[in-house]
Amino acid sequence: MTVASTIDSQIAVDREHVWHPYSAMHGGQSVYHVDSASGVYLHLSDGRKLLDGMSSWWCTIHGYNHPQLNRAVEQQLRRMAHVMFGGLTHAPAITLVEKLVALSPEALQSVFISDSGSVAVEVAMKMAIQYWNARGKVAKQKFATLRNGYHGDTLGAMSVCDPVTGMHSLFNSILTQQYFVERPRTRFGEPFDDSDIESLEQVLQQNHRHIAALIFEPVVQGAGGMYFYAADYLKHARALCDRYEVLMIADEIATGFGRSGKLFACEHAEISPDIMCVGKALTGGYMSLAATLASGEVSDSIDRGNPGVFMHGPTFMANPLACSVANASIELLIESNWQARVAQIERQLRESLSSCVDLPQVDEVRCLGAIGVVEMRKPVDMPKITQQFVDAGVWVRPFGRLVYLMPAYVITDEELDRLCQSVIDVIRLQRD
Ligand SMILES: *Cc1c(COP(=O)(O)O)cnc(C)c1O
Repeated sequence: MTVASTIDSQIAVDREHVWHPYSAMHGGQSVYHVDSASGVYLHLSDGRKLLDGMSSWWCTIHGYNHPQLNRAVEQQLRRMAHVMFGGLTHAPAITLVEKLVALSPEALQSVFISDSGSVAVEVAMKMAIQYWNARGKVAKQKFATLRNGYHGDTLGAMSVCDPVTGMHSLFNSILTQQYFVERPRTRFGEPFDDSDIESLEQVLQQNHRHIAALIFEPVVQGAGGMYFYAADYLKHARALCDRYEVLMIADEIATGFGRSGKLFACEHAEISPDIMCVGKALTGGYMSLAATLASGEVSDSIDRGNPGVFMHGPTFMANPLACSVANASIELLIESNWQARVAQIERQLRESLSSCVDLPQVDEVRCLGAIGVVEMRKPVDMPKITQQFVDAGVWVRPFGRLVYLMPAYVITDEELDRLCQSVIDVIRLQRD
């Protein structure tokens, strides 16, 4: 057996054997070899240093290699890295659950910790089905969801992702057919157009006997199109779900922990979901961890039903290292003035990026919280544009027609200026 030691030989092994997300095994895509990361910088193994605009897919809200987060992992490591959660419990998990219950909407009282966002979504869907089963409504086994949504890559989660971008045609016979409703056309901040709720109303009216829950990304649709819709839509949806006996599952995996300007995006609409999923920024980007929160009403009903237990139990459930770093990350966030910081990031993204709306390549610019999106008129050439960003000294990875930024909250005004300027410069280079 040989172990690749030089960077070049490692990259050769990567090309030959390593699968990357949404990639061909031998597609020849370039990958950049990272040696370390700190603050808002990625240090490449060839010595280059990239200013990070991605927060590693919404996660690293406090930046990389943070002393307090490092300490949380190190201290926990000396006690125990892991123990099974069946029949055992521990302080890191209990503290985390206490924090999540305190910070989330009032009704959410029961917490199931799991290992990734997709699993948290599967867990939420199973909870909704078990809830209705316990209440004698055994036909309620399907889900309503918004088009252009994204909820993860496992089969249950995939069934509620957008059918087109989620490639449902490939998995036709294995994916459950769910009920898709039009996403609201009213944008965030605009006066609500009542006709936006008709699609949901129609689906619920006709199919509520089969629908366990409406699952949605509150206010911000992420990987399905980086789209911000009117919070009032969710108020109307809450009323409809109550009327037709359908639970609401808020997928806050991308929006949770301040990204949209509120701690949880449901707060924009002042609604309380019956079930809520968190993940991504939960550990400040240190480890894979997620949680599904349910109302006492949901967990009590599941307890009273048959078999009287909730049917899920991941091997690494409530991993102590991950829970410890999640606790440290939540403390850091709550003790910081994150609201002011995120508001300032939003102002700056809006001011800087708005200068590219006049470019012929650009269709629209939109910003909310610490998210800035430039929608292009044509899909970008991803390898080429990524290379151009790297040449400019920044890490930005667009998809489809979307060039977007979601920096760590600790980015300075100067660094954010540089990031936005690089986006504008690189967009100028995009010609057919
Ligand atoms: C990323 C994401 C998921 C899936 O989380 P993983 O940890 O990648 O499994 C689910 N829902 C939303 C809204 C997400 O952004």
